Amino acid sequence: MFGLVNTLVDITLHESMLGIVSDHADTMEGQRDVADETMLYISTRGQTDPVRFRDAVMMGLATDGGLLLPRVIPDVTDHLGQWRSLSYPDLAVEVMSTFIGNDIPHATLRELVYRSYRSFKRTTVVDLVDVNGLTIMELFHGPTLAFKDIALQFLGNLFEYILADRDTHLNILGATSGDTGSAAIYGTRGKANINIFIMHPSGRVSPIQERQMTTVMDGNVHNIAIEGDFDDAQRILKELFGDLEFKSAYRLGAVNSVNWARVLAQIVYYFYAALRLQAHMGCERVQFAVPTGNFGDIFAGYMALRMGAPIERLILATNQNDILTRFFTAGVYARGEVHPTLSPSMDIQVASNFERYLYYRVGEDARSIRDLMQQFQQTGRIELEGRDPLFAAGSGAREDTLDTIATFHRNHSYLLDPHTAVGVCVAQHFLMDEYPTVCLATAHPAKFPDAIREATGQDIARHQDIDALMNLPTRCTILPATEEAVKSFILETV
Ligand SMILES: *Cc1c(COP(=O)(O)O)cnc(C)c1O
Repeated sequence: MFGLVNTLVDITLHESMLGIVSDHADTMEGQRDVADETMLYISTRGQTDPVRFRDAVMMGLATDGGLLLPRVIPDVTDHLGQWRSLSYPDLAVEVMSTFIGNDIPHATLRELVYRSYRSFKRTTVVDLVDVNGLTIMELFHGPTLAFKDIALQFLGNLFEYILADRDTHLNILGATSGDTGSAAIYGTRGKANINIFIMHPSGRVSPIQERQMTTVMDGNVHNIAIEGDFDDAQRILKELFGDLEFKSAYRLGAVNSVNWARVLAQIVYYFYAALRLQAHMGCERVQFAVPTGNFGDIFAGYMALRMGAPIERLILATNQNDILTRFFTAGVYARGEVHPTLSPSMDIQVASNFERYLYYRVGEDARSIRDLMQQFQQTGRIELEGRDPLFAAGSGAREDTLDTIATFHRNHSYLLDPHTAVGVCVAQHFLMDEYPTVCLATAHPAKFPDAIREATGQDIARHQDIDALMNLPTRCTILPATEEAVKSFILETV
């Protein structure tokens, strides 16, 4: 998880962005130019100058501590008829273009998208599978067998393109408890002008997750096993990002889950599934069930809905860590303890993308967001009036997760990973007669063999890529859990 990185203000590369905006702001002519031709991004907290798409990507977190959002949500209703027949990558190019404007040439965007999705095991990128009256959207056919590949394969290529164009480089630093690290490494391996340093707690991530990271041999990938726990790794990360001199001298950056490009890449599959189902089943709209942690995935669904995708409702599914379910059912967003569960990628306390949704919920009022976030900082609690009818929400406990995996395996010969199982379990409480339900499948079950064994009593969660990992050589540097040790390792390496 990159939770902590998200809270750090990323000023890397910021100087150049201000340049671009102010160049054009010199004259009224210039200003109109920018507004007409290019989608601009603003901060939820209203205190960052509007930036273009590329600058939003390089900025990650907004300079005022808020999250970046497009100044206007494009209305694509008129395009839907034409989009219905597009392949996944072609649809991705169209959807993304509406948010990029002319900030990246169309042919370049097309090339980046095609290159990103060539690494997937399906030419369709995602698979739609009918099981027990539900449509399971398999998002896990990328190189690390988790849905995060859909965004991070694209983000890696996008970074590479922007860095080459600006003739600069980036050193990405992250800490992982196992889940996001591998997708970030696979997204950036072998990319020009990028080094990636990923810290994990030595011996404390699952053997599969550790091997997915440490078997990558590209020269720009640096795995660091910290002699400590995940909190130590997070602390070191925070210290290094807090060292602003070091941070700017070494162009440190984060692949954080709040990067707008990650949301953007995820919007695509909501359109894809909704339009395919419309075409095949003749339904007017569909609803989606989304296993949720940091609210990135389901926020992409919310954007798709607001753009005009035929979506009736979003079903938010959490595990025992149910802060978001409590918000959508009772209106209270209150920090709690993190409990370890069978779906570790959803074990979060504070959802880093939630502020984006909140911005729309309070009527796009940046001042309210500043007040609410300050209130949350001080009291760990926010309360809002009213309910949003676009969302349903529920949580699945450990037994529900195991039961759902067991039932789907026994009755339908379909193996759900524990994250997907939480979504499926919650979805079953919210089925509708008139609209089909699409459940997002976020990881391949072979990534979580222990949960599958516990649910089914059998060792059946296999994937050839995972099996192959066990025989590959590994490369990893073991370091003591100190800021100095990691800092000198980075200095020696770059
Ligand atoms: C990251 C992740 C999630 C949660 O996605 P968010 O965008 O953080 O809500 C769900 N399932 C899996 C397998 C994940 O890796």
